[in-house]
Amino acid sequence: MMSDDTRLARRLEVVSVSPTLAVMMEARALRERGVDVIDFGPGEPDFDTPGNIKQAAIAALAANQTHYTDTGGILELRRAIAGRYAGAQGGAWGPDEVITGCGGKNVLFLAAMALLEPGDRVAIYAPYWVSFPEQVKLCGAEPVIVSTKENDGFVSRARDLEAHRGIKAIIVNSPCNPSGAVIPADEVERLAAFAAKSGCWLISDETYDTFHYGPGTFASFASQRAGLKERLLLVNSLSKTYAMTGWRVGYALGPRPVIEAMRKIQSHDATHTSSISQAAAVAALTGPQDSVAAMREEYRRRRDELVRSLNRIRGIACMLPPGSFYVFPNVTGAMTALGCATSIEFGRRLMAEIGVATVPGEAFGMPGFVRLSYALSLDRIRAGVERLRGLLGAREG
Ligand code: PLP
Repeated sequence: MMSDDTRLARRLEVVSVSPTLAVMMEARALRERGVDVIDFGPGEPDFDTPGNIKQAAIAALAANQTHYTDTGGILELRRAIAGRYAGAQGGAWGPDEVITGCGGKNVLFLAAMALLEPGDRVAIYAPYWVSFPEQVKLCGAEPVIVSTKENDGFVSRARDLEAHRGIKAIIVNSPCNPSGAVIPADEVERLAAFAAKSGCWLISDETYDTFHYGPGTFASFASQRAGLKERLLLVNSLSKTYAMTGWRVGYALGPRPVIEAMRKIQSHDATHTSSISQAAAVAALTGPQDSVAAMREEYRRRRDELVRSLNRIRGIACMLPPGSFYVFPNVTGAMTALGCATSIEFGRRLMAEIGVATVPGEAFGMPGFVRLSYALSLDRIRAGVERLRGLLGAREG
């Protein structure tokens, strides 16, 4: 008998397709059937990329910057990234300690490939961004899910790691997708101390760092570089900050051996992100930042109104998240009212009955909640909330 050699690799058996993309496809299919879907699903800015960044890309094209670049990205870009963190305690990163790639997602995957082996255990706080556990599993390692608490604002706490032994890496994400939680400065210190004490890696995904609405200023793990020198990997992206999701530019800063390992992997994979995108990224990082401030203020306005109006709906309880552009309300009351056993079923009912797209909490390891993005206009937000109120009723009192 011939052996069956058309099977897919076994590593795929443990990985699922991104649930956020699945919601996007479902919303698209409904829209194609003529339904006016109000889409709270997308994890991307509804703003256009600022003009100065687009002009830089056009200029790069005109100057024929259309060839292969350094695997880690052009020096000018790595310098601009290092410059963003120049004030870090424990010394600034040099351009050799920076790698750029095709978005934060790609850079995180390169890091996972460089650091993780089968059997390694990686602590990930729930609710988590959908790709963290899947990337870990693709490397044959094991995600160890650590819960955060709604009544603690979903903050990732060092004390919740104490019960877990033999952790190779901790992934933290502040401001968080999906909860919008931000890790306060004292907890950033505790998490760094935990990683230093237990000798594990700390991977900090700070993709939403510019969308922090206070109180106070955002506490980056860059502040912990002194104590974590050889085990800190900072990951970020231009996707959300500069409304550049399609340009695919993300980056990491870390110890040289890891950055070199990531470059080695990249050299056999994407090679580098687009030369045009890199030129645009230099303009984004070194040019005027007023469009970022304007986007942040608009997101803040939307967040405030969305949270206020969601809390007026029966069966929905929503905290005011300090960061990102998502809210993550508790919908257990509304699920009971509609007779839904899971938030997946609840999300489906919202989509089918009122044309409102959300992402169910199961996607982020936290059933009983749904994620709503507020990267859509206030008018659309208001219309969506109105539909929800129509279905669920107003809160009494
Ligand atoms: N990290 C988090 C927490 C995200 O939400 C996303 C995108 O949704 C990413 C990383 C990656 O974004 P990109 O690959 O577009 O840089």
